[in-house]
Amino acid sequence: MAKKTSYDSTHIKNFMAGLVRRNPHETEFHQAVHEVAGSVMPFIRENPRYADHIVFERMTEPDRVFIFRVLWEDEKGQVRANRGYRVQFNNALGPYKGGLRFHPSVNLSILKFLGFEQTFKNALTNLPLGAAKGGADFNPRGKSDREILRFCKSFMLELFHHIGPNIDVPAGDIGVGEREVGYLFGQYKRITGEFASGVLTGKGLSFGGSLIRREATGFGAAFFAEEMLATRGESLEGKKCIVSGSGNVAQHCAEKIIALGGRVLTMSDSDGFIHDPQGIGEEQLRHIMHLKNNKRARIGEYLSRYKKASYHPGKRPWIVAADAAFPCATQNELDKKDAETLVKNKCAAVAEGANMPSSESAVNFLRRKILFAPAKAANAGGVAISGLEMSQNSLRLSWNEKEMESRLRDIMREIHSQCAKYGARKNRVDYVDGANIAGFVRTAEAMLAHGV
Ligand code: NDP
Repeated sequence: MAKKTSYDSTHIKNFMAGLVRRNPHETEFHQAVHEVAGSVMPFIRENPRYADHIVFERMTEPDRVFIFRVLWEDEKGQVRANRGYRVQFNNALGPYKGGLRFHPSVNLSILKFLGFEQTFKNALTNLPLGAAKGGADFNPRGKSDREILRFCKSFMLELFHHIGPNIDVPAGDIGVGEREVGYLFGQYKRITGEFASGVLTGKGLSFGGSLIRREATGFGAAFFAEEMLATRGESLEGKKCIVSGSGNVAQHCAEKIIALGGRVLTMSDSDGFIHDPQGIGEEQLRHIMHLKNNKRARIGEYLSRYKKASYHPGKRPWIVAADAAFPCATQNELDKKDAETLVKNKCAAVAEGANMPSSESAVNFLRRKILFAPAKAANAGGVAISGLEMSQNSLRLSWNEKEMESRLRDIMREIHSQCAKYGARKNRVDYVDGANIAGFVRTAEAMLAHGV
């Protein structure tokens, strides 16, 4: 692998200046591209055939972007309007594939960063998956079930024009879980008159969903951490772990850590975090799942049952001393100061369950100090099982849980070895370079084969 030189820095700077000029104000998108450029551009210098075909430049431009109005009626009969999006980034490897996010922070910059990241992540799974992302600036918090249904129906009224089992296959993300995927699927079926099980993934088991899809992203992050620790002859057994978030990814990441013998000390939501020094065990986790999935309550309610735990409003869990950290909530939730605190507290590994949870300076600090798994590698388990959900839908059969979990474990192991191959350094693996370059090579080869 090429050592980065001042030639590379100047090239990256010029490249980024052009990208920022063409995509003004899209700071999250700039951040995601800058991180990948730092790995891929020095690699391209050594492999100039990619440069001749401006493959990397092409990868930073989505194939197309749809932006649409979503009208719906609230419980008071008031008409409300939101903005919906679908960013189809790259279909060199397969149909566009990536989740839908319903959150007030959703904008074009966030969806472009997520779609761009998805290109590399999906390539790493070795499955035939292109990359996309979508969603709306709709806030599901506090909405009734009927309001959620009405919103999903209206959203699909426009989205259905752009998706299909061989075109673009959305799934869930923040604010879009099994319930929402079910409502979206029902509306697609009503509009088209077609039972196209392969049009969405993350579906309920009764209509084409896959076993362990719900768990896959979180399980995969824990498996990836195990792979990294194994390179040092260690495992999660007996390790103190801090997890952020309490949604889908966080819950199942915690579940697998516990199953592998680790001790989960924290979980959080957008209001604050809980710290249970006795450890969040299976029973406590079941209670958190009930609070979040059924009661749709705040994480602080944990204390009404588990009195020895503490609640830290407005804070993030990185101040709690631990051996491993799993940011599983949202982007930019772990900054350089947090990273320094983790290292000071002798944290040995960070595996990103969420997308881009660490700021760029935090990433650059952590990747040199400890085992650091970037999201596109560590959280690829979700989309990998989505890919296998599509395979099962095409075959019209379903694989059992044991088989699915063993396939997931194999996929995470294979992603780890690709990262190790492309990110090998003198005495360590740079997983950031490894994931970026491995994802780039697979996508670029397909793009070159397709011609211009
Ligand atoms: P959920 O909506 O199920 O959970 C999100 C969690 O993050 C909630 O606990 C939420 O708290 C918390 N959160 C949201 N915004 C903030 C914020 N600004 N500050 C602190 N906490 C916040 O989403 P998922 O678990 O599905 O997704 C979490 C992350 O994982 C995202 O980055 C997503 O893109 C990524 N991801 C998800 C995959 C999946 O399969 N679901 C696949 C790959 C990546 P609150 O309850 O207060 O909103």
